[in-house]
This record gives sequence, structure tokens and C-alpha cells, in this order.
Amino acid sequence: MPQRPRRRARRGAAAAAVLALALAVPLTAHATASPPAEQRAGQSASERDDRIRGYEISGVDSRAERERIAGTGLTIDAVREDAVVVSGDATQRARAEKLGHELTPLSSPPKRGAAQQPGPRDFPPDDSDYHTYDEARAAIDGYVEKYPEIMSQEVIGESEEGREIVAVKISDNVAEDEAEPEVLFTHHQHAREHLTVEMALYTIGEFGAKYGSEERITDLVDGRELWIVPDANPDGGEYDIESGEYQMWRKNRQPNEGSSAIGTDINRNWAYQWGCCGGSGESPSDETYRGPAAASSPEVGVIADFTKSRVVGGEQQIAAHIDFHTYSELVLWPYGYTHDDTAEGLTQDDRDAFAAVGTDMAESNGYTPQQSSDLYVTDGSINDWMWGDQKIFSYTFEMYPGPNDPDGFYPPDEVIPEETARNKEAMLILLENADCMYRSIGKEGEYCEAS
Ligand SMILES: [Zn+2]
Repeated sequence: MPQRPRRRARRGAAAAAVLALALAVPLTAHATASPPAEQRAGQSASERDDRIRGYEISGVDSRAERERIAGTGLTIDAVREDAVVVSGDATQRARAEKLGHELTPLSSPPKRGAAQQPGPRDFPPDDSDYHTYDEARAAIDGYVEKYPEIMSQEVIGESEEGREIVAVKISDNVAEDEAEPEVLFTHHQHAREHLTVEMALYTIGEFGAKYGSEERITDLVDGRELWIVPDANPDGGEYDIESGEYQMWRKNRQPNEGSSAIGTDINRNWAYQWGCCGGSGESPSDETYRGPAAASSPEVGVIADFTKSRVVGGEQQIAAHIDFHTYSELVLWPYGYTHDDTAEGLTQDDRDAFAAVGTDMAESNGYTPQQSSDLYVTDGSINDWMWGDQKIFSYTFEMYPGPNDPDGFYPPDEVIPEETARNKEAMLILLENADCMYRSIGKEGEYCEAS
């Protein structure tokens, strides 16, 4: 990406702002004054209620309490000591207040240089190191062109609004389907979690640049097939930035029949124990709306079909998977739908292997490892489907920042290099374990064919 001319742009914007103010004040002073409360109440529902805001609720220290709050349709964005950070619209806020909670509004998402009038569908100027959908596509094209020996890409389907969803393959003899353990990384199911797209671009660039010079990467590119889906929710991601101000958007942009509310929470829409257990929203306006049916969102369909296409000769080739999210610095494993450590299709050995490799990865990046339902129950998540339906060891990484950081979903672009590289070792650990995840618990002989 070219370096942006920050200082000059800022000065220009300041001058423009002064000019705009000078013109606007005499003409519209009355209209721009803050309207009284009763007038605000007369605003349309979309103006009044649809805006998603962040809140802290203090005095919340149990999983049961977090689950009751999640039941209002708010999302639990961070679990702090004796508090949670949530987000949602006014309706959901009112439901939580009805439960007796006090919601302290958090500051709005940062407007880094927003006054500088970004172009349509772009990040605020001071966050312009983040890649828009088009910029990410161009960056991927560049990498595939630069490292054609080990990289290829394919369009695996389209989003609701018709944007192409791409999978990048990284392996030696990349044009051939070799008999090597496969690993899948997916990114950006949730629109506002833009750092996850940067994570994918980092990984693609790093594997390209270090192949042939760094031994572990060279061995893994030679001995594995790595698939990366950098953007599972391009419509939501673009919507979140298109006005030049972050919208706190989470879902996709699928219309809902019979409702003005837009979007399905893609990561509650997967077809394994879908909607089973109170871990997703039932109403289209819920931030965690699970959709009208399992896998009803095109984006889930695209990635599920791609994953199933990796079943060769009756055997799923993908052994391990990470789904990247933000934030809270966590490594999570299934199941999400139940509090139990083990359940149908998840034995004690499975659970122990999940925990062993998950803990190794977390030690490398300083995240906290745990079963995802330790936080609160979720159903219809990608991890539960990947394991429950496909027997893929599937993790969620909740990236930077930690749960107490006020930047939440919108850390400044200066953190991108450090916070993406921070996960390199964890990715290598997963790739190295992918030929036999049970080696991590000393049961290679029991579960893995001698090779
Ligand atoms: Zn997420």
C-alpha cells in the first residue's frame, strides 16, 4: 500500500471544516441545535433504534448471568472481571435494563480523521492501512502473482450482495491435489472484526516471503496444504465502513422476510445443533440472529460447500481449522452449544487433544485458552459444525485487543503488523500438529496411521 499523505490531508480537511462551519452556521443554526427529547422521540425507528452502541454492564461475574444478557439479543463482546462489554440497539438495551442491569454507554467507535471525507466504502483516513474488500482482493492477486509456485486462488462462491468469496491455497506443487494433511483458516465472519482480514493477508504474505528461506515454513508448505478464506462476510465488512464512520456492524447484509431488520449472524447459522440451546437470537433484529433456517446465509453455504468439497475418497482432508475473530485475546474450542466438556461426537480424548494443542498455541501468543462455552453458550457456530459434522479440529482465535481495551473492535491500524505476526507461531503449531492431533496427548499410535 502506498504511504498516505497524512499531514497534508489533515491540514486540507481542517481548512475545509472551517469553511463549512462558516457557511453553515448562519444558515442552519436553528436546525442543527440539539432537538428536545420529545422531538427525538418523533424520529423514525431506523434513526432512533437501529444504531448499534457499546455498553459496559458491571456486576456480572457468572456464566448464567452472561447467558441471560445474551438472551436479550445483545452480543457479549468482552468478558471482564466482574463486568461484560455488550453491544446492540435500543430495543435490546431496554430488554437488558428490564433484567435489572444498568448499561453504561461506552464511547462511540473512533473517528480517526473522519472529518477528512474518506472516499466511498473506505476506512477513516487514519486507519487506511486496513484493506477494503477491493484492496484485499488486489493484495491477494499480487501475492498469487508473486509466488505462483506455491499459491493459487479460486472463487468459491458469492455473498448475498454478489461479492466473490475467495480461497487461497498455499502448498508446493500447488496445482496438484497432493495427499497431504490440510489446514483451513477462515476470517471475518463478523463484519466489524476488520483485523481478521489483515491476519489473512499477513499469513499469505509471510508464507510467500519465507518459503525457501525459513525451514519450518518451507517444510510446512511442502508437507501440508493450507487454505485461507480471507473474507467470509464481505458485504458486512463494506457496510461497516461505507459511510466513513464505523457502524459496529456484525451480521451479514441479508434481508429478512417480514422484517425491516437486516442480516444474519453468520456464526450462529451453521448447521450443527442450530438454534438448539439458547445460544443465538430468534428475532431478525437480534445481533446474534441465527437466520430462518440452518445454513440459510449464502456465506455459510459457500464455506460449508467448500469444506465438504475437501472430502476425497470418503475422507475429509482438512484436519484442523482456525476461525479468526476479534477481540479479547482468546483461543477457543468446541463445543459452544453445551457447557459439558464432552458430548456426542466429542470424546475425552478429542477434548484433551483440543485443549493440548489449544493451550500450546495460546502459550505462543499470550491468549487465554478455554472451551468456548466457558464464556457463554453459543449454537450454530462454525467450530461446532466443523467438529460435529466434519471432524475437523476447529478453533476460534479472538485477536487483539484484550477484553479491557477501550478500542475493542476498532484498534488503530498501527497495531496491524505486530498483532498479526503475533499469531505466526500458533499457526505453525497447528500446521505441525495437523498430521496427527492426538500426538499432543501421546496417543498417536491409537488414533493415527503409521506413516
Ligand atoms: Zn466475531
